[in-house]
Amino acid sequence: MSKFWSQRTGELDPYVPGEQPKDTQYIKLNTNENPYPPSPKALEAIQAAASADLRLYSDPNSDELKQAIAEFYGVEDNQVFVGNGSDEVLAHTFVALLKHDKPLLYPDISYSFYPVYSKLFGIEVNEIPLDSHFRINIEDYQRPNGGIIFPNPNAPTGIALSLGDIEVLLQKNKDSVVVVDEAYVDFGASTAISLINQYDNLLVIQTLSKSRSLAGLRVGFAVGNADLIAGLERVKNSFNSYPLGRMDIVGAAAAIKDKPYFQQTCGQIIETREFVTTKLEALGFQVLPSSANFVFAKPSGISAEDLYLKLKDQGVLVRYFAYPRINDYLRITIGTDDEMQTFLHKVVSIIA
Ligand code: PMP
Repeated sequence: MSKFWSQRTGELDPYVPGEQPKDTQYIKLNTNENPYPPSPKALEAIQAAASADLRLYSDPNSDELKQAIAEFYGVEDNQVFVGNGSDEVLAHTFVALLKHDKPLLYPDISYSFYPVYSKLFGIEVNEIPLDSHFRINIEDYQRPNGGIIFPNPNAPTGIALSLGDIEVLLQKNKDSVVVVDEAYVDFGASTAISLINQYDNLLVIQTLSKSRSLAGLRVGFAVGNADLIAGLERVKNSFNSYPLGRMDIVGAAAAIKDKPYFQQTCGQIIETREFVTTKLEALGFQVLPSSANFVFAKPSGISAEDLYLKLKDQGVLVRYFAYPRINDYLRITIGTDDEMQTFLHKVVSIIA
């Protein structure tokens, strides 16, 4: 604690991202990045935007990107909000839509940024335990609340909730906003964007970091009814007029428009995930059913922590969480087929 810090700063509990090593060449299966490069069309657009025009501010409303997203999902431009990574979109959502007198509800095992934002913005929370199979039980969310948020598929479990269950949550919580964080939805779950015109309390948040291979560009977005979006714009315009730069806007728009590339790379990751799941199960691992670009697996014959450390020694990074309930599991991002073959060979030799 420095004497110059505000009391709030001293009390914060900042988020700790997965390791981003700068030294050794690792096979990186620890932060759910996409192993394939971004769409060539996105790279071309970014390169073209690296011009003398960078002396000028970017469009504060990122209209070109909002239009591309609206067209892709068949919604109106005023139903789309964009930000600097979905983390920033989430942060604005916590302030604009989830800070009320009643507590915010989210699963006990979930994206670990939710408690961080809650603390930063002084939001009272009620963490709802996942059931013994690591599933969200929607009946547990029928209690007084000032909002509900969860990832779908959930992280780090990878387990998806059906659209039917999400509709029940929306119907039973008409006076609060239900936020569905769809960071991993394109790898096997169904997006709830199709429900936004039916439910004015639904906000869907997505990112270009995973299924569009653009984690380094930092672009995320939200889709929901125009009133929710207007609330987000009020917060954004009280914080940063230009969260996206010129290269971000055109690169993200080009990636959204390149649907064939997106479908092909997502399809490949799903295929690799199924093959990795089968192999891990054959080695005695317990693998949760994943709809994401990672699997959450409990090793057999070795502790999760030990396997994490031994893999790291051998140049393969996976994610280990030293938290209650999940410290027997590893979260393994799906890489290329070659990377996953190497990973599996190393696992076999370590547990032999
Ligand atoms: N939501 C979830 C569930 C995530 O796992 C992540 C990635 N850490 C994010 C949101 C944020 O992703 P980004 O800021 O890169 O869009």
